[in-house]
Amino acid sequence: THFGYQEVPVDEKVKRVAGVFDSVASKYDLMNDMMSMGVHRLWKKFTIELSGVRKGNKVLDIAGGTGDLTMQFSRLVGDEGEVILADINDSMLKVGRDRLLDRGYGGNIRFVQANAEALPFPDNHFDVITIAFGLRNVTDKDKALKDMARILKPGGRLLVLEFSKPTNPLMSKAYDLYSFTALPLMGKILAGDSDSYRYLAESIRMHPDQETLKDMMQNVGLSDVEYHNMTSGVVALHRGFKL
Ligand code: SAM
Repeated sequence: THFGYQEVPVDEKVKRVAGVFDSVASKYDLMNDMMSMGVHRLWKKFTIELSGVRKGNKVLDIAGGTGDLTMQFSRLVGDEGEVILADINDSMLKVGRDRLLDRGYGGNIRFVQANAEALPFPDNHFDVITIAFGLRNVTDKDKALKDMARILKPGGRLLVLEFSKPTNPLMSKAYDLYSFTALPLMGKILAGDSDSYRYLAESIRMHPDQETLKDMMQNVGLSDVEYHNMTSGVVALHRGFKL
């Protein structure tokens, strides 16, 4: 099923939340670069580094969207390895698949339509699982984290890259101002859609902070959980291991 993808039915409520991404899929990459001023590339680079991925590994990129992480993993695991890009949203999967095909990626990548809360994969299967800027969209985060821990191999690791709580008050103020004014405005101008970007700002504000997410990862049984703040805590990378 290379470059085809498997369809998995998802319930209506989840569909509605994920539907936000329908309207932005085609502009997604441009928006990412504009809104983060290119810095999301560095956050992702660090995520790949900390994953400790090796040749031959099995990797799952949940909420993989247009495939920034999947692309890097595909290169690093080589022909004996496998990368699965899973996403709940049809439009994002299509854009991602076309983009990776255009760039000549292929043989070791599979695309799967799936909800992070009910991952259609066997126990103890993956060496590396990532979810980048995806967890905040997931309704039942504990359930999703539990399922991720289930499908990790012993010794495998989960990396969660997500917006978090800025560590200094000045950055916090600047960031609020940015996310509630500039962000929806850019959304309107570039994607013709300010509502989706207002939703984005709200979902970021509601997301668990560094310590809370660390606790949540420990609660599903992951070990040695730690996080790294980036850009003054605007973004944090959490990593935990399955023993
Ligand atoms: N990981 C990519 C990146 O960092 O560029 C894409 C991030 S994008 C902001 C969030 C992605 O999460 C979207 O592609 C969306 O369809 C997906 N998503 C939202 N809810 C989801 C869920 N419950 N399960 C799986 N994917 C979900």
